[in-house]
Amino acid sequence: MPYTVALTGGIGSGKSTVANAFARLGVDIIDADIIARQVVEPGQPALLALHKRFGDDVLLPNGALNRAGLRHIIFSSAEEKNWVNNLLHPLIHAETQRQLALAHSAWCLWVVPLLVENGLQRLADRVLVVDVDRETQLIRTMARDSISREQAENILAAQASREARLAVADDIIDNSASPDEVIARVALLNQRYSALATASDRD
Ligand code: ADP
Repeated sequence: MPYTVALTGGIGSGKSTVANAFARLGVDIIDADIIARQVVEPGQPALLALHKRFGDDVLLPNGALNRAGLRHIIFSSAEEKNWVNNLLHPLIHAETQRQLALAHSAWCLWVVPLLVENGLQRLADRVLVVDVDRETQLIRTMARDSISREQAENILAAQASREARLAVADDIIDNSASPDEVIARVALLNQRYSALATASDRD
């Protein structure tokens, strides 16, 4: 497995922006949100299993997962929520390991928005947190997603706190700075992680 740095941060903190900057430097990116969607694509065993247990409520007319339907089931029953988690988590983990094993770069960036919420920090060699103050986070989220302050505040309230995220950070990117400064910080971190990856190879 390549040396793996987990990148996390709250909504609108700048994870995609930072991940794109690393990608431009040639770093392979593994995206937890994409993997979570891939394992429930039509034809995948997980979607068949969900359909078998919950019936047509979890399928759209085109055969794709009905996310609203599944969300409704999960919200109304802790037992079903556990069942779904027990089905999906091992598949997501296996797919993550498979994609990491295919990586070619000296180290890999694993983008995990819900790293802290799902307690996944120990699966990475290092944790990088993108950090902005709450007001910046709200303003950028409202602008990007065209949502109200109230909607943005509700999303923030459902996520881990800034403090909880910073508590698991090995490194922090302050993304209240200008994009140029952030790119410079990304370049320095890339050098650092490449060196750490080489050192861990020698172990
Ligand atoms: P996340 O992936 O964490 O939800 P994004 O990377 O999409 O966050 O960033 C949220 C919004 O803020 C986007 O519209 C992005 O273009 C903007 N943004 C990100 N970094 C900066 C920055 N340093 N300065 C100004 N705007 C930024």
